[in-house]
Amino acid sequence: MEKNIPYKTYLDESEMPKQWYNLRSDMKNKPAPLLNPGTLKPMTAEELSVVFCDELVKQELDDTTPYFDIPKEILEFYKMYRPSPLVRAYCLEKALGTPAKIYYKFEGNNTSGSHKLNSAIAQAYYAKKQGLKGVTTETGAGQWGTALSMACAYLGLDCKVYMVKCSYEQKPFRREVMRTYGASVTPSPSDTTNVGRKILAEHPGTTGSLGCAISEAVETATGSEGYRYVLGSVLSQVVLHQSIIGLESKKAFEKIGVKPDVIIGCAGGGSNLGGLIAPFMGEKLRGEADYEFIAVEPASCPSLTRGKYAYDFCDTGMVCPLAKMYTLGSGFIPSANHAGGLRYHGMSSILSQLYDDKLMTARSVEQTRVFAAAEQFARVEGILPAPESSHAIRVAIDEALKCKETGEEKTIFFGLTGTGYFDMVAYQKFNDGEMSDYIPTDDDLAAGFAGLPKVDL
Ligand SMILES: *Cc1c(COP(=O)(O)O)cnc(C)c1O
Repeated sequence: MEKNIPYKTYLDESEMPKQWYNLRSDMKNKPAPLLNPGTLKPMTAEELSVVFCDELVKQELDDTTPYFDIPKEILEFYKMYRPSPLVRAYCLEKALGTPAKIYYKFEGNNTSGSHKLNSAIAQAYYAKKQGLKGVTTETGAGQWGTALSMACAYLGLDCKVYMVKCSYEQKPFRREVMRTYGASVTPSPSDTTNVGRKILAEHPGTTGSLGCAISEAVETATGSEGYRYVLGSVLSQVVLHQSIIGLESKKAFEKIGVKPDVIIGCAGGGSNLGGLIAPFMGEKLRGEADYEFIAVEPASCPSLTRGKYAYDFCDTGMVCPLAKMYTLGSGFIPSANHAGGLRYHGMSSILSQLYDDKLMTARSVEQTRVFAAAEQFARVEGILPAPESSHAIRVAIDEALKCKETGEEKTIFFGLTGTGYFDMVAYQKFNDGEMSDYIPTDDDLAAGFAGLPKVDL
């Protein structure tokens, strides 16, 4: 007989995690260090502190300390929208007719609409504590820029966002949310930076890319007194902050006496997935428990499933450090895909190492199947999911349908990273039957790989 599991499980205030967990501390094979692109030597704290705040540099370089105290001010901010619920997807299970038990952790319960706020408030807090005037960043789909604008408004920091030009034009409401929170939003490439002017001169009609917006934001931060650059994914510090998702989930599961068998998350730069799996992967690494982990990425931007594990630039302008990661090459431009948050050429070096060590698996899915899953989910569970999150929904449903065939009663757990209210153009395309799937050919990928820097270590 199955226990009576509540539809939603929340933690009490006293049960809330007070520390972030650093997954790197339990990894036998540590992620490879960031390299200085000029000297090809590991980036020192001094070099990194030109770009990032001091406290965040410490977190970035620390792969041994298991836990970091969450500062009291950040805990206070988290209280405004956390804990996020762990939901038992009873309605979805019934609709699928599966014996599997499905759970999801919903991170869309805040105005910015995604998990990104978990790291935005942390990064803004350390900038404020260092006495800085403001921060710069890039945003593609707009979720990160929105989250950072909210965090900066709360702390009284200036926030300059470079928004990929096509999103700036296609998602005017995202832009206005950021401006409402006091951020300045510049379409990228712009004529406000050297790198932007250079790209505009070379590609006059370009609608921009994430890699290009990163280069502009970094240039502005390093050239402005009292500013630092912040990044919403990929970096190890971001995975550290996002561990709040996994820590809350693990406690909630313990509270109801359930252990997941399969843990699924979408992977763009890897921050939500890294945070979601962190404490569970920690148990696996320490030999205390076993789980199956699945990263889900778009077939149009398949960094893990078809990428190379190599040192690469994090941005198009090649101003950032080199990171060793599964990558399609910093020059790879994915075809139009409606999951903007998953269109990044690389992947967190933590997840890349875990994947290379076969501690987790990865799958790529086509966007029409993703939107079919999103609609099926919305109709029975009520939440309108972000296209990015819907990649995880797709694979969770696929796994649950497999259980229906085999009769297995697996417990499937996935991360529902956000809401899709600003993605209605994508839903419209899907509803009108105008969405297509473009899968890059091996030749397309070869062009991206050809641009990888030659690094012999
Ligand atoms: C940004 C984003 C993602 C992907 O980023 P990760 O760093 O891989 O987590 C996924 N879902 C939503 C809703 C996002 O905004």
